[in-house]
Amino acid sequence: MARDGSVDVRDEAGPCPVCGAVEARPVLYGLPDVGIFDDLQRDAVFAGCTMPAVPHPYACAVCGSRWGA
Ligand SMILES: [Zn+2]
Repeated sequence: MARDGSVDVRDEAGPCPVCGAVEARPVLYGLPDVGIFDDLQRDAVFAGCTMPAVPHPYACAVCGSRWGA
């Protein structure tokens, strides 16, 4: 559990399949509102506006690989 009581994405995602770091960040697609961008940027990874064919919900904060379905 995270400090705010929500489920920690790192618990949900588990360790990175590439480097094993438990540093998952949620991957967000599309552009958020400018006002919340800075807040979100600390805890999430922005994948841009182009939705890939197979979007991965988690990104490793250490090596940058993405995984999950
Ligand atoms: Zn990694």
